[in-house]
Amino acid sequence: MIGNPKLREKSSDITEFGGELQTIIQDLNDSLTSLQETKKIGRALAAPQIGHMKNVIYYGLPNNPFVMVNPKITWKSDDKFWVWDSCFSFDVAFFVEILRHKQINVEYFNDKGELIEKKFSDDLSELVQHETDHLHGVLATDHLTDVKKIMLRQEWERMMASL
Ligand SMILES: [Zn+2]
Repeated sequence: MIGNPKLREKSSDITEFGGELQTIIQDLNDSLTSLQETKKIGRALAAPQIGHMKNVIYYGLPNNPFVMVNPKITWKSDDKFWVWDSCFSFDVAFFVEILRHKQINVEYFNDKGELIEKKFSDDLSELVQHETDHLHGVLATDHLTDVKKIMLRQEWERMMASL
């Protein structure tokens, strides 16, 4: 959780696509499923959030779960957009409104060790930026440019319901 110094450390690359990686992926899958059930929100989890200081991200998207190993953002659009962002490491107790790049290109390996290059836009772009930040010890709150742009989850839900 935010305040834990581990969340501020840089994680290291996976060098072997074997048993250790599969264990991390299984842990991420189990933890994300459990968090989604209890918190009723959330799309992904980065390995350092559950104590594995490795560059692995698990995306638990409905019908399309996937894994990113050793992701590198190779291009970011100049075009940015405002997003309300939260995090399981904040216990999803509050949201912050921050700027993210509208599009990014990412190079990463899948769970089988195949190199993939892919462009992400909008919702997925901001999600991938959030998760890759975790691998560098960066949290969504670090992107706050206006300290007034913090909202408790209850207020955020009220705002979203009124849109
Ligand atoms: Zn997070």
